[in-house]
Amino acid sequence: MTAPTLPATLPTLSLRKLRDLILDGDPGCLCDPELFTGPAGIEAEDEPVMDRDARIDAAREVCASCPVRLACLAYALRTRPAAGVWAGCTAEEITALAAAANRRPVRTNPAPLRGANPLIAAVPGQGKTGASARSAEVA
Ligand code: SF4
Repeated sequence: MTAPTLPATLPTLSLRKLRDLILDGDPGCLCDPELFTGPAGIEAEDEPVMDRDARIDAAREVCASCPVRLACLAYALRTRPAAGVWAGCTAEEITALAAAANRRPVRTNPAPLRGANPLIAAVPGQGKTGASARSAEVA
């Protein structure tokens, strides 16, 4: 897989508005949070590597067609989740993208989010570090 890159534009809404936008989009991660955060009751380091890699690949596929992926990415870049898959990126990839974003200005999209880009609709799920943490962050 190639390393994720920053899109040319990201929504610059408040975290609350990003969260609402994400949740309004009814993203796939809400239906299967363990796909994005790992199996419940198992510490991340105890998940077999091959299982983890396959799970992350499957989560990335869900994110690839998510209508609120850009809002999710903007949310994750600002909240820097410690775990989980966000907008098709692992937490480590989000950290790297956030560092890259700090090195260059990100253009804002002045057009209304929904009208400007069909990818922008609403966001993330839940999880142990990810699932419930996401819920807590989103709440
Ligand atoms: S993690 Fe983000 S991009 Fe992926 S399905 Fe959930 S809201 Fe969509």
